[in-house]
Amino acid sequence: MSRVMNFSAGPSMLPEAVLKRAADEMLDYNGSGQSVMEMSHRSKTYQAIIDECSALLREVMNIPDNYEVLFLQGGASTQFAMLPLNLATKSKSADFVLTGQWAKKAFSECKKLANAREVASSADKTFTYIPELDPATFDKNADYFHICMNNTIYGTKYVELPDTGDVPLVADVSSCILSEPIDVSKFGVLYAGAQKNMGPAGLTVVIIRKDLIGEPKDGTPTMLTYKTHAENGSMYNTPPTYAIYICKLVLEWIKNDIGGLEKMKAVNTEKANLLYDYLDSSKMFKGTVEKKYRSLMNIPFVTGNEELDAKFVKEAAAAGFVNLKGHRTVGGMRASIYNAMPIEGVKALVAFMKDFEAKNA
Ligand SMILES: *Cc1c(COP(=O)(O)O)cnc(C)c1O
Repeated sequence: MSRVMNFSAGPSMLPEAVLKRAADEMLDYNGSGQSVMEMSHRSKTYQAIIDECSALLREVMNIPDNYEVLFLQGGASTQFAMLPLNLATKSKSADFVLTGQWAKKAFSECKKLANAREVASSADKTFTYIPELDPATFDKNADYFHICMNNTIYGTKYVELPDTGDVPLVADVSSCILSEPIDVSKFGVLYAGAQKNMGPAGLTVVIIRKDLIGEPKDGTPTMLTYKTHAENGSMYNTPPTYAIYICKLVLEWIKNDIGGLEKMKAVNTEKANLLYDYLDSSKMFKGTVEKKYRSLMNIPFVTGNEELDAKFVKEAAAAGFVNLKGHRTVGGMRASIYNAMPIEGVKALVAFMKDFEAKNA
C-alpha cells in the first residue's frame, strides 16, 4: 500500500493514526458487535460518542460554558443562510468584510434574507490581503459582523480581529479551526465545515454564544433554527453519526498525540515556514499573498508562467504530490497543509520544488 501526499484544500488528509483506529473499530466498535455507521443514534453507545466529541472539542478549544456546541449538516454553506435567519432579527442588518469567495457567498446569501452591508473588501488586489478595518465604519446596530478568518482559496488570514464592540463577531473558521488556539469568548458564533481540519465531509460544527440562540425570523424551517438543535443536543434528527465519531478521534489525536492547540500551532508554523522560506528564496516560485496575512493552512504560489505551472502540477502528481493545482480564480498552485499533513510531507514537497527549479531554470 502506498499513500500519496495530499495537498487538497478539502476534503483533505486525516491523521493516519485516526484512519487506522477507525479501520480497527470498523466491524466491531468497542464490543458492540457493529460499526458506528450501523448503530442507532439513540443508543447509549452512540450517545457516549457524541458526548465525548463535544466534551473534547470544549476542552481542546477551551470553549466557555456560555457557548453551545452544535453538530449539524449542510456544510459551512448552509450557515451562510442560518446566520441571517437566526441572528438578523433585530435591526435585520449585518456587516461583512469581503476577503474572498466564501466571504462573498456568506454576504450574498445574507442579502436574500436581510440587509447585508459591505464594510471593506480586498477584491481590488485579487484578495491577496486582509483590508485594514476602521470601527467608525461599522454599523453599531448590526445584528452581527461577519468575517472569514482564513481564506482557503486565496491563502490569507486575519492577524488581528476587528473590534466590533457589542455587535457579535461571527467567523467562518472552516479552514483554520483546530490549527491554533482561538479565543472563543471574542466571538458570537464560530462555524466550520468539518472536511478541512476536523473530519469527513457531512459534519458542520457551530459554536454559538447561548444568548444568541433565540427566535428565528418568521417562517424559518425547523431544521434551519439553531434553537431546534440546541434544545435537542444536536439530535433533533439523525446527526452525521460516523463523521462525528471520526471528529472525536481527530480531537483525541490533537489532545493526546500532538498535545493541544499550542503545540498544533507550533507544528503548523514550522511546516508553513518551510514552504514560505523556500518561496521567498526561489527564483522560480513565488507566494501570491502579502506576507503579513499569510495563512498557515493554504499556501498559493505561482511561477508566473502558466505552462510551467501546468508542468509542475503534472510532474508533482506523478511523484505522489497530489491536488496542488491552484483554484481556478488564482491559477498556479496551492498547497493546503492542514493539521494532518506531516512535516515530512512539506519537506518532501520543498525538495521536489527545488529539484524542479534546478531542472527547469
Ligand atoms: C470549504 C469552505 C467553505 C464551504 O464549506 P462547505 O462545507 O462545502 O459548505 C466555506 N468557507 C470556507 C472558509 C471554506 O474553506
